[in-house]
Amino acid sequence: MKIRLSQVLGDSIVDGLGLRMVIFTQGCVHNCEGCHNPETHSLTGGKEVSVDKLLNAIFDNKLIDGVTFSGGEPFLQAESCAYIASKVKEKGLNIWTYTGYTFEEILSSENEDFIKFLKNTDVLVDGKFVLKERSLELNFRGSKNQRIIDVKQSLEKGKIILFMD
Ligand code: SF4
Repeated sequence: MKIRLSQVLGDSIVDGLGLRMVIFTQGCVHNCEGCHNPETHSLTGGKEVSVDKLLNAIFDNKLIDGVTFSGGEPFLQAESCAYIASKVKEKGLNIWTYTGYTFEEILSSENEDFIKFLKNTDVLVDGKFVLKERSLELNFRGSKNQRIIDVKQSLEKGKIILFMD
């Protein structure tokens, strides 16, 4: 199995709680005005890597608390991301995922891989980046419309439960 990546960061403290490895997937269709990562939009840019090689690189990093999927739009490669996320979780690490889709859009997509990826995500930061709602005071998100969602709690309770404001 392969995944198309823009880049991988080994040690971020701004893409979720704790020290995290960040996987920037390549390809995005949301076209948010003011996007900070336009180089990740092309569906054919970046480079394809083997999912198993990427997993080995993740497991070689003994310091991280978890892995964050960002982009780009990780859900465009939901099958590969879900697989990686499930293997990472087996090792006791947590998963944060940034997406331009909303939690509700993912749930109602009827796309098996979307749901699998969602269920293997602990914290979902959802929704497009909205320039008019941008604030530099927000933790772990760029604009006020985006929510930091506790996925397990939200699925269990059948409504959005925030992980943090
Ligand atoms: S979803 Fe993210 S990568 Fe895609 S256009 Fe919006 S801000 Fe940029």
